[in-house]
Amino acid sequence: MKVLVINCGSSSLKFQLIDSATEALLAKGLCERIGLDGSQLVYQPEGGEKEKSLSPMPTHTQAVSLVLAALHNDKTGVIKDLSEIGAIGHRIVHGGEKIAQSSVITDELLQIVEDCNDLAPLHNPANLIGIHACREVLPQVPMVAVFDTAFHQTMPEHAYLYGLPYELYTDHQIRKYGFHGTSHQYVSKRAAQLVGRPYENLKTIVCHLGNGASICAVKDGISIDTSMGMTPLEGLVMGTRSGDIDPGVLDFLQKKAGLNWDEIIDMLNKKSGVFGISGISSDFRDLEAAAEKNDPAGKRALDVYEYRVAKYIGSYVAAMNGVDVICFTAGIGENGPDTRANVCAYLGYLGIEIDKEANAIRGQEKLISTADSKVKVYCLPTNEELAIARETVALVK
Ligand code: AMP
Repeated sequence: MKVLVINCGSSSLKFQLIDSATEALLAKGLCERIGLDGSQLVYQPEGGEKEKSLSPMPTHTQAVSLVLAALHNDKTGVIKDLSEIGAIGHRIVHGGEKIAQSSVITDELLQIVEDCNDLAPLHNPANLIGIHACREVLPQVPMVAVFDTAFHQTMPEHAYLYGLPYELYTDHQIRKYGFHGTSHQYVSKRAAQLVGRPYENLKTIVCHLGNGASICAVKDGISIDTSMGMTPLEGLVMGTRSGDIDPGVLDFLQKKAGLNWDEIIDMLNKKSGVFGISGISSDFRDLEAAAEKNDPAGKRALDVYEYRVAKYIGSYVAAMNGVDVICFTAGIGENGPDTRANVCAYLGYLGIEIDKEANAIRGQEKLISTADSKVKVYCLPTNEELAIARETVALVK
């Protein structure tokens, strides 16, 4: 079966077509500036050139139609007929407390997703638009929703409750939910395969270090804690997000710096993290280049970033009373040998030893710890789209 995987934002739509029998990627691409001037479709058949075409996309429905036209055009299309698409898997950001697993999309499920709009106002409404657009264009194709939050619904109460009045949880569902669940689950399962031990009897820490970043403690096959919270702002220092800060800073910013709430939230999401600390960039390639030239701002940002990752790993070792495997994944985790080595340099007390030569890789699945290391450490590329395709096939078969 061929599965179309859709990740829909408010003005963008990313897609991949995956052959579930071979798990091969057939084509991928992106619609940008949907509903705006200058909208464009980027399309790339596997092994082929990237094609960019400016096309009006007043709505997401139009964008989905253009994606389908690209997938089955005569020259660079990868299917002969739209009926070859057997299912569509949608990435949905927030499923709240009601959704603990991927689900076939029904009207009832869409209502639950809509009920979670308040918890993810930037993401869930856009994800819903993508679903409605696909329903309009391919009404007969079964669709599945795969949730970023679902994997973390196994967190115990002591991990997900904040130190706030309990009514805020019961009345407003204010608690930690966690994100990147599809990636954390995919990577931790793959790690169990690589070490040849049962997933249900393994303590794994997954460091998903991309522009957005989170860490997850996976014990006996379930998420028991994760660093992102009710929103993706909590936890690690990220590309442009602050991660954990003292809430007292917000009051200070309002009163002393004269910022209003929108300005504060915008700053915490878009102007903070390594970008804010360095004043250079959110991209680790730029920061590493700056640090190499002895620019203290680049080094400072990297130091803060690595220290925070190491602290979270330490706290999850405590939460699980040990760790068997640590995995680095996503843009920085997969492509940052220095980041991996510097984080692990804090972890000598766990008996972790990194093999310098093995660690000198980017974007490959590889054991990067020495044979003597007490904990196995992997560079392990994530593949959220493949994970979504797998879940989709499992549910529609
Ligand atoms: P993601 O959100 O997973 O796509 O990760 C994006 C981030 O990965 C970028 O902002 C970079 O900081 C980082 N990244 C990507 N490629 C490299 C690389 N070759 N070396 C270091 N960092 C990289």
